[in-house]
Amino acid sequence: MTRILSKNRIYILIILGIMIYAGVSRYHISLWWVLGFGVFVGIIWGKVFCRWMCPIGLMMELMMKLSPDDTFKNMYQYHKIGCPIAWISGFLNKFSFYRIQFNQVSCKNCGLCDKACYLTSIDQKKFSLYQPKMVNPAINYSCSKCLSCVAECPNGSLSYKPVLSSFKIKNNH
Ligand code: SF4
Ligand code: SF4
Repeated sequence: MTRILSKNRIYILIILGIMIYAGVSRYHISLWWVLGFGVFVGIIWGKVFCRWMCPIGLMMELMMKLSPDDTFKNMYQYHKIGCPIAWISGFLNKFSFYRIQFNQVSCKNCGLCDKACYLTSIDQKKFSLYQPKMVNPAINYSCSKCLSCVAECPNGSLSYKPVLSSFKIKNNH
């Protein structure tokens, strides 16, 4: 299920981003409600708003895809600087009900998760989803729950589940 969601994230972002944009521009839904909604989903799922629901995130993503070079590669990081939903839900990545969890026992150390993660690719010396003594990007402020790491893991050693479930969460060592 997580893999299907991750592979279709862009379509979900298009649908939800347009719905939220229409709600604000056409039906005059207050931005305070959008902020409250972003925080609410952050409490449950962590920082999912930016890459799954945000109209501005959608624009950024389309610009990145259309860009002929790396000009817009890190646009998420820039637009998030001014967004309170990103601040709050990024903070909630450490405390949300659903988190990315790591099963040390079944992990084969193939490294595919790290290759799929845009945070790890930015700083390979700092972040790793499976290597000990490295920072777990999934609880970092900047993880926008793209779930590419979970989708790429060939044997289900990474999962996105409520924290009460059986897998051990890899924390900073
Ligand atoms: S969801 Fe996984 S792949 Fe995506 S940014 Fe977070 S840790 Fe990296
Ligand atoms: S992709 Fe899965 S099996 Fe491979 S290193 Fe990451 S967690 Fe371990």
